[in-house]
Amino acid sequence: MSSDNPIEIVELRKEYGGFVAVDNLNLSVKRNSFTGFLGPNGAGKSTTLKILTHLINATSGQAYINGIDVTKDPKAALTGVGTVVETPEFYPYLTPRETMKYVGQIIGMNAESIKSETDRILEKVKMTEWEDKRIGTFSKGMRQRIAIGQALMNNPSVVILDEPTSGLDPRGMAEMRDILKNLRNDSRDLTVIMSSHVLHEVSDLCDRIALINHGKMIIQDDMSAIRETEGRRRMTVKVNTVPEKETISRIEQLNNVMSAERYGNDIEVTLDGDTGACVKFLNDVSALNIGAYSVNEENALETTYLKLIKESR
Ligand code: ATP
Repeated sequence: MSSDNPIEIVELRKEYGGFVAVDNLNLSVKRNSFTGFLGPNGAGKSTTLKILTHLINATSGQAYINGIDVTKDPKAALTGVGTVVETPEFYPYLTPRETMKYVGQIIGMNAESIKSETDRILEKVKMTEWEDKRIGTFSKGMRQRIAIGQALMNNPSVVILDEPTSGLDPRGMAEMRDILKNLRNDSRDLTVIMSSHVLHEVSDLCDRIALINHGKMIIQDDMSAIRETEGRRRMTVKVNTVPEKETISRIEQLNNVMSAERYGNDIEVTLDGDTGACVKFLNDVSALNIGAYSVNEENALETTYLKLIKESR
């Protein structure tokens, strides 16, 4: 087994009666990656993550964390692993600080490290202000931040998250994304696997993706490779006045531009090329002086996701 993969799932299978929820799945999660675990409803993501965190047993196959098979020695495999997999339950009469202490004691930390870790983590998950209030009064977003906080106790090297932004309101989602982004940016030795249906969130946060359907692996790859897969990129240029025909044809004549069409104040452009072509396009559009105030790329992950899921039906 490669030491570069802190999570390695081999021929994992889960049957419920005659129904196959996870169908001999193979998955490798690279060290220090932030991997988005994707797939339609019922694809088998939660089942896989529950086996990985020993909440349920597999029918067959192996699930290794740091080289130890969870199905054989869950205690050793899950040491140093932070998880938020099922909807987290907390004692409502405890405060975040007391909850962190409780979790710290369970995982065998001493009083001094519990205190310093709690200070550091509550700050990280933006809960310092509420550290002494009872969790019973908290919103779902605040509880979810505490859930992430307890998963980060004692500096885990692997974190497993099942839909961390699910059920949160737009502000809660944005706050959670911020927390996860900071986690990604601040942590040097941390491997994260996170299931999600929110593709723009995954594009934003993750550097790897694993896509499954019907319990089977469809693709696992770097986000950068997914972005390049299509070869063509669709960009929307927003301009501050309705663009003239002349403006459209000047864009059409730019390097790498295959087509340009006007929709109201927007110009939809198809580009042929890689990230370098995008950089050049941005500079060229700006130099045209046509009042362009934003250029957005269509989400390449969404295009790839929809195509691959359709093919794997
Ligand atoms: P979602 O994105 O909707 O959360 P998922 O990819 O996480 O979906 P799972 O929850 O892993 O999918 O479910 C995979 C399949 O297994 C589904 O068809 C589900 O109905 C089925 N399943 C899950 N748990 C059980 C169970 N306890 N008994 C029977 N079938 C189950």
